[in-house]
Amino acid sequence: MKFELTTLDEYSDESLLAELRRVAESLQDQRLTRDRFDSLGRVHSSTLHKRFGSWTEALDKAGISESVAPRSRVLSRDSVLKTLREFAEKNPGNSVTEKEIAERLGLYRGAITRRFGKWESILAEVGLNPVPLGRRYTDQECFENILTLWTHYGRQPNFGELKHSPSIVGPKAYIHRWGGWRASLTAFVTEISESSELQTESVEPVQPPVFQNDHPKYAEPVPRSISLALRYRVLVRDKFRCVICGASPAKDGTVELHIDHIYPWSRGGQNTEENLRTLCFKCNLGKGDKVENIQPDSQDALRE
Ligand SMILES: [Zn+2]
Repeated sequence: MKFELTTLDEYSDESLLAELRRVAESLQDQRLTRDRFDSLGRVHSSTLHKRFGSWTEALDKAGISESVAPRSRVLSRDSVLKTLREFAEKNPGNSVTEKEIAERLGLYRGAITRRFGKWESILAEVGLNPVPLGRRYTDQECFENILTLWTHYGRQPNFGELKHSPSIVGPKAYIHRWGGWRASLTAFVTEISESSELQTESVEPVQPPVFQNDHPKYAEPVPRSISLALRYRVLVRDKFRCVICGASPAKDGTVELHIDHIYPWSRGGQNTEENLRTLCFKCNLGKGDKVENIQPDSQDALRE
């Protein structure tokens, strides 16, 4: 039988804090409470209280995070604002969500707003915007947005349409980058034609599909390797309409067009103009992984 001391060898500040850390680490997924410490520690929590002024103070001194040991101290508006400021300074240009701040404070999402009201007003108090102004979009994001609008309207989009859904990049981003809308469209067309010349997608090795957009509407994994230029060419060829049912976003705003692999991507279908077609969301869903036009049986897949 192995004997172990159940008390500490010495009671220096450092050894008390080390004991606190040791217990915290031994808990793994459980939270460190005073009761747990008293049953697992080699020293009583009241010793820590006496030495450091309070249990909370001891946790702070030991560097134990709020998520491991939530402090029972009253959540003050000041502590929220302080954490918010610190977070914003370390992450300039990012939007700050309540969840991020709540986690830092060892709270559940919603705890801050339940107590202090709207998240927007809390942000405003430290001079932050819910969506930071001047977010820098990449060229690719600006072009993607143009293609989204082009698809949505079934024609070249106009400047005013940048302000409305489904546009997600506002007019300012284009003005800032290219000086005007016409110049932006020219840049888009140049991108399309230049990358078309360079395109050798049919010989590219197949890459695993990735989710291009986490919106539920885009539940279908879209391989990023279908370039903007190729998607544009397929859409133009198919006249921005579903090739099965003819639905188009220009006629019906709820229609969502997708670029579909005729021979499925998951089975090694290639990113070539011949293997790609435009489908609406509904027709795309109905298709699944079936291979059409390969065997007569599979024609069932098209019957609906
Ligand atoms: Zn359709």
